[in-house]
Amino acid sequence: MSSSGTAAFGAIPQQAALARLPLQIGTTATWSVGRAAVALFPGLAIVGVAVYVGLAAESFRRSLVAVILLCALPGLLLTAYALMHLHGALRTRASDLLFLADGLIVDGGRLHGQRMAWVELNPPYAEMEDTTARRLTLLRIFLFMLSLGSRSRQVISPVASVRVWRLYLLHRGNRRLIAETDRPIERDSMYAAATSVVAVVQGQRYVAQAPAIAAQIAMCPGCGAPAVPDDAPAVACAYCGQWVPLSPLIRGQAGATKALSQSRATTTEIIAKLRVQPRAARTNTWLLLLALLMFGAWPVGWGLIAFRVLGDGFQAPDALCLMLPLAAVLGGFFIARARLADRGALQLLTLGFGALAPQREGQPSRCRRCHGPLPGAGLGGVTQCRYCAAENIIGLDLRPSVDPARIEQQTFDDALRKRSREKLLWNVLTGVAVVALAGWIGGTALYIADMASDDSPVATPTPAAPPAAPPSPTPHSAPVPPRPAASRPALAPPRKKK
Ligand SMILES: [Zn+2]
Ligand SMILES: [Zn+2]
Repeated sequence: MSSSGTAAFGAIPQQAALARLPLQIGTTATWSVGRAAVALFPGLAIVGVAVYVGLAAESFRRSLVAVILLCALPGLLLTAYALMHLHGALRTRASDLLFLADGLIVDGGRLHGQRMAWVELNPPYAEMEDTTARRLTLLRIFLFMLSLGSRSRQVISPVASVRVWRLYLLHRGNRRLIAETDRPIERDSMYAAATSVVAVVQGQRYVAQAPAIAAQIAMCPGCGAPAVPDDAPAVACAYCGQWVPLSPLIRGQAGATKALSQSRATTTEIIAKLRVQPRAARTNTWLLLLALLMFGAWPVGWGLIAFRVLGDGFQAPDALCLMLPLAAVLGGFFIARARLADRGALQLLTLGFGALAPQREGQPSRCRRCHGPLPGAGLGGVTQCRYCAAENIIGLDLRPSVDPARIEQQTFDDALRKRSREKLLWNVLTGVAVVALAGWIGGTALYIADMASDDSPVATPTPAAPPAAPPSPTPHSAPVPPRPAASRPALAPPRKKK
């Protein structure tokens, strides 16, 4: 932080946006895509197998058809579960809320580009709904099938109550759903957005309650404006230019804080990096690409198995390969989730460390702990209070209330540590996922290689060899009659290796 005191005053730029708040970070959508990708194709496959077997067994007794319908049931439930989550992912994809002087704009997501003027909002302007929704869950589907199988009288419902939070804005007499989530991290964003909207519409941007940390604040004797202290006997008032004398205590604090903040350049850098991170639309593009991988893995993997099974019948390793696409789903999910760590961290910093709005237009922002004026740092900039040494982020938070979480911590250290821990966790999982992905790609490649060298009992690892392989008289061309099973064992080893 290079800004040295009073010179930067009034530097809070009158930019288009007063604040940007992540509305839906993208966690809800990512979880939904993951769940859908796990369930969709297995569900469809179960239905398909049940129907196929059912048609084949039509000549048998009627009761058999009922049994087959029962077999299709888990498949139907899984498919419904997947479609429900796909729909949910579309609705809850990442979005930001931009606060402008005359209204708000939704950036990214389902309502991208929607603009609402402050004057078009009706009381109570914004509402949070904390409710439950009845939804299919994987665990309940599993328990439901178990309860059917156990022949007990009591059947467990496949539907469970899931806690969800919804944010509504009251726009031109309509109650409009803006965001919905079942993840606590997005709930916090949505609560902050609701409070900010109400505050801005009612013109209550200024914190009225007493500061948490009482600090003696130097005031200009000429105009009464609060002064940002420095390591000097007096500072010039930013408004009227008159000299404001500083007590030795205030001067000492200011000097110590200044020295401290110069040594914390890395923190400032990390936060600057978090701030310029890509917008919601970019997050959604990534999720779409990863979703294509997660869903596409199933038809590709299963298509290869089908091709092979049609060629030489179902073998034990084929059953193992049926679940290989799951590695791609896991990989895609972890990569998508890791990409959200920074969006989550920015939200955490915004909600916990936002400076308070100035008392009057043109004045400096105020410290979230002691309400002292802050050295200017520009919108979204990091600045350290020269009265109580608390770190603040300028102009990202419009809420007038000061909840305990906003006062608690003096520095960003804990929040940033939490972020690096989360990043580490998801990066490790991404590493695992990449290995799983490599396993899937490698397994698929082996599968293809195995098919290419299909009929050679030697099963040479070099792909160039098969056509010349001497022991097999017909390397590729149409072994129309089903081959004797004896030719298989020679092929099994390379396939097992995956
Ligand atoms: Zn003054
Ligand atoms: Zn302070």
